[in-house]
Amino acid sequence: MIEQKVKQTLKKIKLNKKEKIIVALSGGKDSAVTAYLLKKLGYNIEGIHINLGIGKYSEDCLKAIKSLCKELNIKLHVYNLKKETGKSIVTFFEKNTKKISNCTICGVFKKWILNREARKLKADRIATGHHRDDELQTFLINIFKGSPNLNSNFKPMLDKKGPKFIIKIKPLFFVSEEEIKRYTKKLKLPTVKEICPYRKETYRVETRKLFEQLSEREKENIMKNFLELSKKIKKDKSKMNYCEFCGEPSRNKICKKCELMKI
Ligand code: SF4
Ligand code: ZN
Repeated sequence: MIEQKVKQTLKKIKLNKKEKIIVALSGGKDSAVTAYLLKKLGYNIEGIHINLGIGKYSEDCLKAIKSLCKELNIKLHVYNLKKETGKSIVTFFEKNTKKISNCTICGVFKKWILNREARKLKADRIATGHHRDDELQTFLINIFKGSPNLNSNFKPMLDKKGPKFIIKIKPLFFVSEEEIKRYTKKLKLPTVKEICPYRKETYRVETRKLFEQLSEREKENIMKNFLELSKKIKKDKSKMNYCEFCGEPSRNKICKKCELMKI
C-alpha cells in the first residue's frame, strides 16, 4: 500500500530515474522510509545530514543515519553546523530574543543549508520525509499565522523558484504517519527513538492534537479538500531575489538565515 502510494506520487511528479536526488536525512523514521523507498524503486539517491550539534541527540541521529546508509548502500554527506558557522544551533536558540520558536530557527537553517549543499553536489532534486499528516498540519498553521497564500504549494513537488533553487519533492505526501510507523517497524530500519530536547512548536503540537481526534476517513477527505482549495489560491508570482550577504534565494534583501546569524 505505502509503496503503491509512493510509486503513484513519483509518477505524478514525473521523477526521472537518471536524476540525482539528495535525501535529507534527520535520523527519524520519515526520512529513513523516504530513502528506503526511493532506493528500492531504483532512483539515483545520496543522503545528506545536517549535524546541528544538539549533544547526545545529534550523536544518536548520526549513528542511526550512518547505519541506514550502510544498509541501503548509499553515499552520505554530513554538514556540521558548528564547523561551518562556529556555533551549534543551541547558541541560536539561547540567544533568540525575538520569540521565534526553536523549530522555526532550525527550519530556516536546514532549508538554507540543504539548498546550497544540494546545488554544490549538482543534485536535480531534494527529497524530504514530509508525510500527509505533516502537510495537513502545515496547511492549517499557515492559515493560523495569516499566510494562507503559502498553501498554494500544497503538493508533492514545489515549483522552481529561480536558477539557484533546487526543486524539493515529498515522496510521502499521501502517506499517513501511522503507515510510516508500521513500515519502519516491519523493516526494522535504524532510526532514533528519542525526541529532540529542544522541540518547541506550539502551533504544530496543537494542530497535531486536533487531527488526532479525527478518523482516517475524515483526514483523507480533508486532504482532498485542501488539495482542491490550494488550486484556488493565487500563486505568489513575485520574482525571487538573492540575499545581499550570501547570494542564496530569498524573498527579501537579506535572507532569513543571514538575519538569524546576527543573533
Ligand atoms: Fe530542530 Fe525542532 Fe527538529 Fe529539534 S525538533 S531538531 S529544534 S526542528
Ligand atoms: Zn543570506
